[in-house]
Amino acid sequence: MDKIKIHVLRTGEVCVSPYLPFGGDDCSIIKASGLTTPRSKWMWLPVFCFLIEHPKGMVLFDTGWHREMSPDGVYDKSAQIKSLGSWFLYQINQGRIAKGEAISEHLERMGIRPADIDYVLLSHLDCDHANGLRQVKDAKHILVSKAELEGTKRKNIQIAIRFQKRWWQGVDMHTFEWNGNEGPVGKSYDVLGDGSLMMVNIPGHSEGLCALKIRNEEGKYVLLFADGGYATKSWRDMITSGITLDKKMQRQSLQWIREQSLSSDCVASLASHDVDVRPHIIEL
Ligand SMILES: [Zn+2]
Repeated sequence: MDKIKIHVLRTGEVCVSPYLPFGGDDCSIIKASGLTTPRSKWMWLPVFCFLIEHPKGMVLFDTGWHREMSPDGVYDKSAQIKSLGSWFLYQINQGRIAKGEAISEHLERMGIRPADIDYVLLSHLDCDHANGLRQVKDAKHILVSKAELEGTKRKNIQIAIRFQKRWWQGVDMHTFEWNGNEGPVGKSYDVLGDGSLMMVNIPGHSEGLCALKIRNEEGKYVLLFADGGYATKSWRDMITSGITLDKKMQRQSLQWIREQSLSSDCVASLASHDVDVRPHIIEL
């Protein structure tokens, strides 16, 4: 089998309180949201998406922000509120996308049309992963876990603020049900049916959050753990993030990410917002 090529693409940045990514087990949702922390202490984190050139097709993991949020490549309060459809989300996170960094612009530079993408896989439905979805709506298959979509419909104030269906409304997005038992809670989905692309449920941050485990024929793998942690130090030092729907589950998922990342078969293990990660290409 030909090699699998993974492009680590930076699709803008997100500004958050330091407690959101690294709040730890005792962090309250109020503290994580930044409402009690001066803006001068907030931090910009990268927003990564991953394009996987797989011998069986072209796959995109997450879609980042939509260009309309940052039309001039800088932070734009009113454009963000309009694009996300939420004033509350502006209070919790702010995004900017330098020129050329929106996922559609990366693809265009690479000579790839959205219609050429076989699968868009969404780790979860938070704004910095799903607001850009409409830019690749012509992809052949757009998938998110059923647990994640169902989770956005629950009556809960945090859920009501975090997830706005306008980001995927009008997009031909389908849900998948678990068809395997890999991962911290024994729930996974084998995308291609050959074990080479596994969406593994790592709940906690959100209900249906998935890591993508990309495995070659020798059993070596790359783990993209999305917001299961915000950096390598998250699993190395077991620091949970402040944004969570289930702290206990979140910790259990982080423990699994740690075990997976420490395995000798693991070639790379990447979060979606690690400030120490630079855009690069991994061959597997
Ligand atoms: Zn995120």
